[in-house]
Amino acid sequence: MTERIKILAVDDRPENLLAIEALFDGPEVEVVKATSGQEALGRMLGEDFALVLLDVQMPEMDGFETAQLMRGHKNTRGVPIIFATAISKERKHVFKGYDAGAVDYMFKPLDPDILRSKVDVFLRLYRQRRDLEDKTRELDAKIQELETLRSQLERSNALLERLSSIDGLTGIYNRRRFDEVLDMEWRRALRHQFPLSLIFVDLDCFKNYNDHYGHLAGDDCLRHAAEVMSGVLKRPSDTIARYGGEEFAAILPETTARDAAALAEQMRASVQGLDLDHACSFVSHCVTVSMGVACMIPERGIQPSTLVAAADTALYEAKQTGRNRVIVHPDATL
Ligand code: GH3
Ligand code: MG
Ligand code: MG
Repeated sequence: MTERIKILAVDDRPENLLAIEALFDGPEVEVVKATSGQEALGRMLGEDFALVLLDVQMPEMDGFETAQLMRGHKNTRGVPIIFATAISKERKHVFKGYDAGAVDYMFKPLDPDILRSKVDVFLRLYRQRRDLEDKTRELDAKIQELETLRSQLERSNALLERLSSIDGLTGIYNRRRFDEVLDMEWRRALRHQFPLSLIFVDLDCFKNYNDHYGHLAGDDCLRHAAEVMSGVLKRPSDTIARYGGEEFAAILPETTARDAAALAEQMRASVQGLDLDHACSFVSHCVTVSMGVACMIPERGIQPSTLVAAADTALYEAKQTGRNRVIVHPDATL
């Protein structure tokens, strides 16, 4: 059940208050009675009233003084007042009432029909204002809720974006991200005419490793290799990704072939340094990698796939010439 709307009736004569109560008190409206201006102000500070029916002639503090004080406090300032007066119907009283901020004015004896219609107007206004406030609060809550949902969505999207760039097995970037980064770095290097290096990595005799130690051990091996090779690359702009299967690729912007070859050699040594037993390798007693390095200063009209092909050729050469080594593509002169 919604709370009853309160009207404050202020009159020093209790019988007048009873008459007003009889007129309005009901299931929807509660008439609160006060017999002095002081008592009325006290009630208004703590409660919410739709309207004050204020007797003008009261001992001590009269209705106008009471109204002046009401206007002076933020809790009571906005409450409408209907003044009721029994004395002279001179117009100056009317003006005095309005000066004090009164919104309406009636003469005693109060005509119940007129009073009721006036009160109804104020009650309707009060209900409308209250509904509006409720709606505003609901809207604020909805906005808050939407704001929360929006930031959740942003977080999910960021996570999704990250997940779609990451290789599930090794936790480094995947092929999709490799392609994106290569494209981006190629264009950046083209713009600034920087050398762009690429290292292709392939585990040696890895089919034999899987056959001998099992696929799960093979997965562990890939994880370890990815971890140590990532650790070699220190620049934030360097990117290592799982290119596919047991192949990895590193993109090194602003890096010459000579520097890329040195990094590749460190990466090769880091995998060998893991000293993971490989009983079926015809290269070494442990897991090793072969590497192909390519480097170019991009030119207009040439695609990044040219750099990929060069690194792949160098890798093939490394395989052909005995594995567990780094070969730099001969076109890389930097
Ligand atoms: P090479 O020295 O010439 O590179 O020989 P290889 O045996 O390493 O090359 P090959 O291409 O014949 O075999 C690659 C193997 O890598 C076969 C495949 O089972 C294994 N491999 C690819 N992806 C995964 C993976 O995600 N997990 C595991 N455990 N093995 C993988
Ligand atoms: Mg391979
Ligand atoms: Mg291999």
